[in-house]
Order: sequence, then C-alpha cells, then structure tokens
Amino acid sequence: MSVATHIVLLGAPGAGKGTQAARLVERLGIPQISTGDMLRAAVAAGTEVGQRAKAVMDAGQLVSDEIVVAIAEERLAQDDARKGFILDGFPRTTGQAEALDGMLERLGKSLDCCLAITVVDEEVIARLLKRAEIEGRADDNEETIRERMKVYREQTAPLLDYYRAKGLVREVDGMGELDAVAERIREALGG
Ligand code: ADP
Repeated sequence: MSVATHIVLLGAPGAGKGTQAARLVERLGIPQISTGDMLRAAVAAGTEVGQRAKAVMDAGQLVSDEIVVAIAEERLAQDDARKGFILDGFPRTTGQAEALDGMLERLGKSLDCCLAITVVDEEVIARLLKRAEIEGRADDNEETIRERMKVYREQTAPLLDYYRAKGLVREVDGMGELDAVAERIREALGG
C-alpha cells in the first residue's frame, strides 16, 4: 500500500487534529491546510472575510460554506499542494464535502483517505480548557466548547458516513500520548 498523501482529517474539536497534522507536515512534506487557522488570520488582519467570520467563530458556530469553500479552493490550488495536503477542519458539513469533491475533480486530484481521530467527550473538554489557559483563544471557554461539540455532532460527524460510503475512512484512537497517537496514524496512512 502506498502512503496516503491526499488526506482529510476528521475529529471533534480538541481531538488533536492540528497537533498531529503538524507532525505529518514534517514527515510527509505536504502542507497542512487549516481553515480555522486561515480564518483566524483573516480576523487578525481585519479583512472583510475576517469581519464577517469573527462573531460566528466566537460563538462556536460554523462560518458559512460559501466563505470556507472559497478559502479552501484558493489554498488547494496553490503550488505546494500539488503533491498532497492534509485538510484540517475542512470539510465540516456535507455541503463542504461535496464542494471539495468538485474542486478536487477540477484540479485532477482525488482523496486517499479520511483519517478519523476519535476521543471521548470528557477528554476533549479537558484538553480545550487547558489550551484556553495556554493560548487564550477566544472560542476556548466552556460554553463555546460545548457548543462546538454540539455543532460537531450535528453537522460534521455525519461526514464519517459520507466518506465511509466511499471506502475512505480509517479510524485512529486519539487517546493517550502524542507519540503513540502519531504512531497509530503512521500505520493507518500506510507508513
Ligand atoms: P477546532 O479546535 O474547533 O477544531 P478550528 O481551529 O478548526 O477549531 O476552527 C475554529 C472555528 O473556525 C470553528 O469553530 C468555526 O467557527 C470556524 N471554522 C473553521 N473551519 C471551518 C469550516 N470548514 N466551516 C465552517 N467554519 C469553520
């Protein structure tokens, strides 16, 4: 089996997507594409998109498909994504997943796998509250965390079935040490 290089990371907020994606960047030499990071950069820069997205993000809700699809498409078309990519936090709705299929088709690419990182709810809350202390992200307070988990269950978790139907899902247990999770991911991606 060849190593997967066109990857969608799926997992609840706090499942460790960003952390593990950063490791994959180093190991596989392909970029991490995080819509959350790009939206936070837009908010910080005060762009029109940032101004539209800020209140929605602070409330733990999803930014509109229209905005994130446009951001993702522009990023995926860049040169460094030619050999592969790790999509982190996109797609988050069925509409986004369908849009992704369309843009990949236009770019002449296809997904190798949807890597689903699973973590129990209590662990997620504990991790995000800890991150709140360290990074001070505006959306890492308990009320917003619960809202983001609800949004994940209702709008994003159904993507597991979407990708299962395409035979693309590989599930990895996200509990335990970072190194242990990274090793499970390495195996799941085929080396
Ligand atoms: P998390 O730690 O919740 O996975 P992210 O950094 O991926 O956080 O995203 C932070 C926020 O940015 C989300 O709660 C949402 O408001 C917005 N966001 C990021 N990606 C998307 C997306 N694909 N669709 C809609 N909103 C998004």
